[in-house]
Amino acid sequence: MGKHSKPVDCSMCNGTGKQTYNVDNKTEQRNCPGCHGTGKV
Ligand SMILES: [Zn+2]
Repeated sequence: MGKHSKPVDCSMCNGTGKQTYNVDNKTEQRNCPGCHGTGKV
């Protein structure tokens, strides 16, 4: 259900396609696992 409706912003990354991690006082960006970096689901 919902997979074939219009794409919406990914809730895990708010549509950015990236997730930010803080590692040893540095910020790392990785592709969001929820939308694989597309920002849409
Ligand atoms: Zn996402």
